[in-house]
Order: sequence, then C-alpha cells, then structure tokens
Amino acid sequence: MTAMERQENMQVSLLAQDSKVCYNPLGKIENRKKKASLKRGYYLKNREDWLSMENLSYQSTRGGEKGLTASSAILKGLAKDGGLYMPSVIPKLEISADKLAGMSYQETAYEVMRLFLTDYTEEELKYCIRSAYDSKFDTEDIAPLREADGVYYLELFHGSTIAFKDMALSILPYLMTTAAKKNHVENEIVILTATSGDTGKAAMAGFADVPGTRIIVFYPKGGVSRVQELQMVTQKGDNTAVVAIHGNFDDAQTGVKKIFGDQDFGKRLAERGFQLSSANSINIGRLVPQVVYYVYAYARLVRDGKIMAGDEINITVPTGNFGNILAAYFAKQMGLPVKTLICASNDNKVLYDFFKTGVYDKKREFILTSSPSMDILISSNLERLIYMSTGMDAEANKKLMAELAGTGAYTVSEDMKSKMADFKGGYATEAENGKEIKRLFDKTGYMIDTHTGVASAVYQKYKAETKDVVPTVIASTASPYKFSHSVMEAVFGDQGDKDEFAIIDDLCAASKVAVPRAVEEIRNARIRHKRECDVDSMEETVAEILGLQA
Ligand SMILES: *Cc1c(COP(=O)(O)O)cnc(C)c1O
Repeated sequence: MTAMERQENMQVSLLAQDSKVCYNPLGKIENRKKKASLKRGYYLKNREDWLSMENLSYQSTRGGEKGLTASSAILKGLAKDGGLYMPSVIPKLEISADKLAGMSYQETAYEVMRLFLTDYTEEELKYCIRSAYDSKFDTEDIAPLREADGVYYLELFHGSTIAFKDMALSILPYLMTTAAKKNHVENEIVILTATSGDTGKAAMAGFADVPGTRIIVFYPKGGVSRVQELQMVTQKGDNTAVVAIHGNFDDAQTGVKKIFGDQDFGKRLAERGFQLSSANSINIGRLVPQVVYYVYAYARLVRDGKIMAGDEINITVPTGNFGNILAAYFAKQMGLPVKTLICASNDNKVLYDFFKTGVYDKKREFILTSSPSMDILISSNLERLIYMSTGMDAEANKKLMAELAGTGAYTVSEDMKSKMADFKGGYATEAENGKEIKRLFDKTGYMIDTHTGVASAVYQKYKAETKDVVPTVIASTASPYKFSHSVMEAVFGDQGDKDEFAIIDDLCAASKVAVPRAVEEIRNARIRHKRECDVDSMEETVAEILGLQA
C-alpha cells in the first residue's frame, strides 16, 4: 500500500465512524468541521495511537460502518445498518498457557480483553475489570471449574443474579461509562431493556448506582417466574426502574424498539441531557468479556494437572442467542487449543438443524421448555459466525440476513458450511434433560440447572456417538436455585403445589450447597418497584421516570 492509499484508507475509515476530526499521517490533525465539534468527535492523538488501532478496528457485519474504535462500538451497541460490530481481525493470545495457569481471573481478563479493546488504556481497562469482578461474586475464583463424572462444569453463575449473564453484565457498565468519557459524551446514558427474565435483572444489578447511567427494565406482567419477578421488583439502586407491562415479552421488545426509533423522543431526551443505549447480547461489550472464562478454564485445567499445555479440549455450551458459544469460538480463533464446539439446544432446535443441513429455518413452532433462556428461534449472534464464514464478506452476509427477514430461512454454501466444521450441533428433549439432571445427581451428588442439563445431556449423546475422549468443559449457565422447581421435579418427581421457598430449602438439603445470597435476598426483601403500564404508554412511562414532563 502506498503512503497515499494508506492515508486515504485511514480517512475513509475514520469518517465512517461519524468522526469530525481525522488523524493525518503527516502529523497534522485535520479539522473536518467546526472547531466546536472537536469535543465530541473521536480523534487519534498520535501516530502510535493510529497504528495500534489500525491492527484492530470494528466494522458492521453488513458493511455500512467500519473503522470504529472498540469504545464507540460499545457505546453504539448496534450498527445503523442493522448489522453487528465485529473486530476486523481476531487477535492471537500473546501469552503461554503455562503463564496463564498462574493468573487470577482478573489478570486473565486483562490479558484477553486488552487485545480486543485496543483504545482503552491499561489503567482504564484494569479499573473496569477490578470494579466488575469483585465481592459481587461469591467466590474468588469468579468462575470455578467443578469436576463431576469426568466432565468439567465451568460454573458461570457465581455473580449477583446467579446466571451467566453476570459475567458480561457486571463489566459492561464500566466499559460503557469509560467509553462515554473517552468519546466526550456528557449525556447521562439511559439503558432500556425488555426482558423475559434473566437479562433485565443482570443488567440492573450491573448498572445499579453506576454514576452517569440510568436503567429502565420492562417485563411482561405474569410472563416471568416468581423468583425472576421477585429478583427484579426488589432491585436496589436510585438509578433503576422496573415496569411490568400489560402484554407479553414481544410487546415489551417491540415497545422498546419503537422508543429507540422515535426521533422526536430522542430530541426530547437530548434536550434534557439523556441518550439511549442498549445492554442486550449483541453489544460487542458483552461478547469480549465472555471470551475470558474459556481461556481461564483452560489455564485452570493446566494448573491442576488435568491436561498439559497444548492439549485439546472440547467445549459444550447450552445455546440460545449464540453469544456464549461464539465467545468460545473466538477463544479458539485466538489460539486456545479447542477441538470441537458442541452447540446444545433444547426442543427449539433450529441451530441443531442448521449445523446438520446448512439451512437456517425459523419457520417452526415456538416451544416453551424448562430451559426458557434457550427458547429462541432467531439466534442474533449467529450472524457473526455467518459473516466470518464468508471470509468477512458483508454483502454476502447482508443477503442471507435479508432472506431470513423476508422468507424466514436461508441456506449457506458448502464452502461456508465447511468453515463451520468446528461446531457440532446437538439437542435434548425435556425428558432427556430431566433424566440427565437426575443421572448426574444420583451418581455424583452434583446438581445442575435445566440449561446446563441440556448441555450435559447433549454431551453424553455426543460422546456415545463419537467415542471422543478429549477432556470436555461444559458451560454451566445458571445456579439450580434459579430453576429450583424444575430441577427438584427432575430429581425427586412432582412437587405438587409446594411453595417456591420450601422447594428451595429442600434443594439446599439435597444438594448440600448453601442457598445463594441472591435467593436469600429476595426471601424477605422489600418490594421497591410497583410500576405498571399499558403497552401504548411505555414511552410516556420512560418520560415520567426521567422527569421529562414540564
Ligand atoms: C442466556 C442464557 C443462555 C443462552 O446463552 P446465549 O449466549 O444466548 O446462547 C443459556 N443459559 C442461561 C441460564 C441463560 O441465561
């Protein structure tokens, strides 16, 4: 590339991120617009800054935006063309497994995340990590590995809401507020979330009392479990608000999207110093922190002498939106010795069919199961894998996504399919899931939740079919306490109309695992949020919460 082309490339990519100021490689900072806009636009201070960013920037999977810094991708969440942000390259781990084996979770997080979040300074990133992974977690290991029946269960549920969403949502608020500072955003950031149970609570726990942020969660009245509802309506924090809507989850999600799309409302918010953002799983700021625990799990297996540095492992993930397993794939792309990524689905087995046939077809019945966080027919994060499998061809990806939106299905080419050969799909029915939870408990005394049960059942089937003996890590995504009723039913049969907390106490006696703080907290907690609204008045409810009315 000539110096001239290089300069042009740079300017194009910087312009694409709404920046008003460009770094000129000849040493000048070029003012694109009025001086006043300098404050808001992102600019690179020197050539070194530019060069480090050149190696890795963020781009939309649909081609509409490129050259973004990590911090602006996190702030924006979703690209304007509807695509997801992807790093331009997957960086390689720069540290040996032996060295990683001696590191804490926080140290590992820094070694992994700094490679993706290249415009965060060491100080900024370490501050985010330190603030996220602290005593909110009930173990210093943060994500402990538990061996049972020869399999390693990676427990990702030791955070404040006892589901794996905490792993990313406890750091996202810090990544976001740091990004706001770096990009000279002075508005208060308002996170709007529609939830069917887990995400809303984890996002609130993460954003509660984080300066410069507010969070408003909408959940369907009567559409979440008792524990999930109690977890949300007892949420502390002056900047949190919870609203039960008179409608279902789809109504909540549609309502939130409508608010995001209402430009007049956006102006009203901006006049009062607010701007909207999102904490859902398509934000790259949720994906990157999830890569960490796969690297950490590998390093722990090395430390504990279960494998030798360089040995391969398999990873099995109970999958819904395809975020968690994609993070495992990123870890493999970074150089972690992973053989097979086993993608476990419940009865909503759209991904199993996809990996088998190359046809993604969402036109099917939506089945409610006892692993509700995996009840999903459109796995948003799969788009990132599709994009990678086309060799980062945004046009090709865009065409497939348009087909999905138009006809409800798409078919990938043989070449793309061969690039996804690292993935093996599997599924477990409700009966297989319950049987596996009981089998493992009866054999080892270890109790797993209904999502982990799906993964465990799928792994057992995989092992029987393939005779693969490679050591395997299963992502354990929720505490059994979060789904006590289904878990106790699987192990001990019908629970009749026993009270939720009575079942929880029985689970404690059977599993000999202390009742987590998250559950004890809601047993007698004060209800703090009683707000309800109709689907049509969600926007006005947001206005009311933020005090926008004259
Ligand atoms: C969200 C969730 C999943 C699915 O994770 P994805 O990243 O959406 O694939 C699995 N289990 C539990 C408990 C969850 O909360």
